[in-house]
Amino acid sequence: MSRPGSRCAAGGEALELTDPSLLLLQDEIGDCYESVTRSVAAAMGAESCHLALYDGARREVVARRPAYTRRTKGVPQYRFPLDASAASSQVIETGQPHLSNDPQSDPLYDPSIKERGVHSVLTAPVQRDGRVVALLYVLNKPGGFTADDARDLMTLAPPVGLALQNVRLYASEKDRRVLNESLLEVSRVILGTPTEDNALGTVLDQMWRVVRYQAAAAVVLEGDELRVAASRGGSVDVRVPLGSSGELGLVLERHALQVLSDAATLLPELGIRGATGRAMAAPLKAKQRVLGALVVVFEDEHATEAHEGQLLTAFADNTALFLDAARLLSRERQARARAANVARFTRLAATRLEPESLLGAAGEEILPLSGADRVVLYVAHARNAVLIPVAHEGTAPAEEKRVTELRLDLSAPLLAPLVEERKTLVFQGETGPPPDSVSPFLGARSLLLIPLVSRDVIVGAVAVAHLSDAEPFDRVLIEYLHDVCQPLALGLENARLFATLTQMAATDEMTGVANRRKFMETLRVEGTRSRRSTEPLSLLLVDLDHLKKINDTQGHQAGDVAIRHVADILTRRRRATDLPGRLGGEEFALLMPATAKDGAVLTAERICREVSGHPVPKVGTVTVSIGVATMPEDAREEEPLIRVADHRLYAAKAAGRNQVRSTSVPAELKDAAAADAAAADPTATPPDGKSPAPPDPPQE
Ligand code: GH3
Ligand code: MG
Repeated sequence: MSRPGSRCAAGGEALELTDPSLLLLQDEIGDCYESVTRSVAAAMGAESCHLALYDGARREVVARRPAYTRRTKGVPQYRFPLDASAASSQVIETGQPHLSNDPQSDPLYDPSIKERGVHSVLTAPVQRDGRVVALLYVLNKPGGFTADDARDLMTLAPPVGLALQNVRLYASEKDRRVLNESLLEVSRVILGTPTEDNALGTVLDQMWRVVRYQAAAAVVLEGDELRVAASRGGSVDVRVPLGSSGELGLVLERHALQVLSDAATLLPELGIRGATGRAMAAPLKAKQRVLGALVVVFEDEHATEAHEGQLLTAFADNTALFLDAARLLSRERQARARAANVARFTRLAATRLEPESLLGAAGEEILPLSGADRVVLYVAHARNAVLIPVAHEGTAPAEEKRVTELRLDLSAPLLAPLVEERKTLVFQGETGPPPDSVSPFLGARSLLLIPLVSRDVIVGAVAVAHLSDAEPFDRVLIEYLHDVCQPLALGLENARLFATLTQMAATDEMTGVANRRKFMETLRVEGTRSRRSTEPLSLLLVDLDHLKKINDTQGHQAGDVAIRHVADILTRRRRATDLPGRLGGEEFALLMPATAKDGAVLTAERICREVSGHPVPKVGTVTVSIGVATMPEDAREEEPLIRVADHRLYAAKAAGRNQVRSTSVPAELKDAAAADAAAADPTATPPDGKSPAPPDPPQE
């Protein structure tokens, strides 16, 4: 890669800085440059900003801030030819910004800039009348520069162009330093002050440093009215219809400075009384639009358009450009903030799998976004067409009962626009406060009810309320809240899908009872709980008798009906804490937490009677056999518990079926129990008088 700077150095002495596209320099020149670079760096959130003028005729750049000179044969040099490969060239050629967050690997930058601590560079052209007159280099932003930064810098470039022009224009004036300072203070203030009216007040104060006035006002155009946004020597917020603003109206119409010969009548209308000096007004014009005007009543009765008028115009132009840039920046930032919120809500929707958690987290965010004092979030109940509250934010304890209990009936006529047009319902101002029937807050002054729509179905809603503000929502805010909330609909759909999948993964499709995986998982949980609490846990293993015969003689479908018959009885005949499950083809189980043996046996016998007592349509009478085992008396662990119950089930089969068994113990477990007893009491002698045999390994 060619090093652009080395060509500059060809003249003789080594350069401190070898890259003319970077201009990392020091030195004098006007404070104005300093202020430009300082305010641009601050506006961009960057470490520093450098400024170079561009001489298009000679294709040379002139370092201005920091100023950059080198001595060739003792003569200071501050002009540098532009290297064709430099980023500056590209920016000048295209008129577009250039950004690099890794300038070392960017062919347009000298690798040595990394060594000088530069890790990101954003370069933009400054144009006047369609020509590039200067270049701005913004250096080092934490996290690097983005395309948004490039856009921001392009927004700042026109005001900088104007400032540079003003510097040139007044360079010969005696008080140019004061002028420059105050013009630049104007730009700094407008970009840095959150409210326009305050910024305009500072503009008037700065103007006082340059021209002495009796009174001054900044008026802004609002619709077809002029409003006094800031005043020195008069009152603010006075409004004058544009049509009856006399010569001031001409200023706005012609985009030109004007002496106000009708000042005697106009000034009092603008809230300025007792000023007798010469009055002039200059338009605040940005691009093709006029934003308002600066009106000044000079102390010097000999004030001329050529001198004071020019100064006033310089202030007005500067103010307008920065005002326009500030408005643009704030709109851009607002749009970006809104996009970021939608992205955050979409992320929430993708990661929160329960409606409560999703809407709870969203509520916390919606409150500050909306500026409201209460938020309630609802899920739509699909079958009953009601909105059920699941989360709320900002509510007082006394309000909670109503908020959590009030369901909104989607068939109520008041909610028709919400249901039919999927539109946000607005209760405020002229529409009046929300009626009690739809408001979760009695006495709320205003309410928005935002539908959450997914695939054209209302899956939920968000209520945003103000208790004391009667008209807080403008059209933009209402639309914004509607848009920002829609990802939540996606999240609710997601949550519903997830719940269905979880349910499906745990359920036996044919009978609707728990499947084997879910049943075994619950058995482990309840087994652990039983051991910890010493509460008993009973297990019933239930097997259809002679199902094979039913299948063989009446068909497989009849067998299925018999299986569902047993499942229905197990489901209907249980307590809320009992869990019926299907462990295999025709083998069922019922898990009964906190149930002792006698209770479990009674239940098992009742199941037996119910199954056989209700003949199955098209199948006839079916019966079941049941084995019962209880923790801790039959086994202390889940696996032996199942084996004991299984053993008893087959005992019931062997004894003729259609019955319950709850006492026999499999041989290998009897041996294990004996070994346990022996270990607990070493003096005990086994019944056969010999040493106890080791227990058989479990037979699977
Ligand atoms: P026992 O009284 O000894 O339990 O006799 P059984 O015929 O019920 O038991 P066996 O173990 O001999 O046969 C079980 C039968 O259950 C065989 C199998 O085809 C049938 N089966 C298993 N799952 C299903 C099912 O989902 N539907 C139907 N119709 N039959 C099933
Ligand atoms: Mg069977």
